[in-house]
Amino acid sequence: MDRLRERIRARRARERGAIVKDAPIRVALAYPNRYGVGMASLGFQTVYKRLNAEPDVVAERVFLEELPGELITYESGRRPAEAAIFAVSIAYELDLTNLVRLLIRSGIEPLRELREPHDPIVLVGGPLTSSNPWPLAPFADLIVIGDGEEVVPQLIEAYRQSGRKGRFLDLVEGLPGVFLPDRMEREPLFATARPETLPASAQFVTPEAEFPDTFLIEVERGCPRPCTFCLARVMYGPTRNVPLDRVLAAIPEEAPKVGLIGAALTDYPWVKPLSRALVERGQRFSYSSVRADRVDLELAELMRAGGMQSFTFAADGPSQRLRDLLKKQIRREDLLAAARVAREAGFKRFKVYQMIGLPTETDEDLEEMIEDARALAEYGRLALTISPFVPKRHTPHFADRFAGVKTIEQRLRRVEKALRRDRPRIEIRSTSARWAWVEAVIARGGPEVGLAALQLAERENYAAWRRALEAVGWREPEPAPFPLAGVGS
Ligand code: SF4
Repeated sequence: MDRLRERIRARRARERGAIVKDAPIRVALAYPNRYGVGMASLGFQTVYKRLNAEPDVVAERVFLEELPGELITYESGRRPAEAAIFAVSIAYELDLTNLVRLLIRSGIEPLRELREPHDPIVLVGGPLTSSNPWPLAPFADLIVIGDGEEVVPQLIEAYRQSGRKGRFLDLVEGLPGVFLPDRMEREPLFATARPETLPASAQFVTPEAEFPDTFLIEVERGCPRPCTFCLARVMYGPTRNVPLDRVLAAIPEEAPKVGLIGAALTDYPWVKPLSRALVERGQRFSYSSVRADRVDLELAELMRAGGMQSFTFAADGPSQRLRDLLKKQIRREDLLAAARVAREAGFKRFKVYQMIGLPTETDEDLEEMIEDARALAEYGRLALTISPFVPKRHTPHFADRFAGVKTIEQRLRRVEKALRRDRPRIEIRSTSARWAWVEAVIARGGPEVGLAALQLAERENYAAWRRALEAVGWREPEPAPFPLAGVGS
């Protein structure tokens, strides 16, 4: 515990933005991953800011520490189980087991039905709740689906009026975005933040976040595009572009680096004026990626002037046929044009996202990806980042099969073998097929998948997941009905 206190003290000394106060309603605001990951979550920071804006509420952060043992809050060093509300923000399927660990190490019984009335109210929000809240159901008293900006003040008001768990849940039942898993059979409608409550912007800046020393700001929420595999429309609700003057006013002039956040940032109508204004102010900035059909030389040069080192865009389908199937609306010419403007603007390397294991995928699709990778690498060093396709709920692929671990691994080996002679101009970075399988199970699983995660708090790997799922009665769906021709050939 002393080591953890010492580590927290050191982190607190390096970060800016912590709010230290005392108030009657105490909330432990937890993130089911390391400090550096949690501090890169703008949603987590927004809820922290919103809660602490209430005069009678104090929210204190808790992270899943690398050091073993009991967790404490960052602001006062207290035990999270002493708080009235234990609120967790979860973004990724693979953080499900971390949620269980977080509860256990916070001194809170993970299973809702075994908790006592005096235990904290366990509230779970974050992007994962919009895509699939069901695996969270065994743990949460309340799940928030949608934008926290609207729901948080209503929850606090209900807590003020009730002061205890049972009455609190009575009061919040039926509010937009509030899902009570032990009382409701269906998820409620998404809670949507009014445009005037945006932009969400950082409370913290720290060198230890995944985006070090960066002031994060969300310039748009949602995406109107039809890409069939993507959850942006479900996770972030209707598209809301924040007017340029409001974005600029929210960015402190002294922030040396600004992280611009948005589902499809190059669709933001003021992306160029905003980038130019930041360059003129002498502030560096970054975007996570650009759309290949939206970037031109002017924008690429602004990105360079803003200090961006990497140039990233997504193909998201190995062939034109599959990109069309996914309604990605990106052509081969767009990919090549993006690589060309990247080179002309002075980027020496670029990163392209690809997916494999898609419905109806064949060897010909992979051949096209290999050829396109070689054509792209004519413009600079290419990092080809390949992820297995994971079908998600709330998308047209909700009933598609995951292609299978063996199939994905065989296809990946095939691509790696073909591009071996192109190293180092092309470097392949791939994500694990086994963990993609676990992600696919959680993405469409029910409460039983949460119960399987409960068994994995001590030790988690692919084999342990399979055993735990079998123990809770989960059955693997039938193999993919679509052809995966020539696998392993
Ligand atoms: S992949 Fe990008 S452009 Fe397509 S819907 Fe998702 S965020 Fe929008």
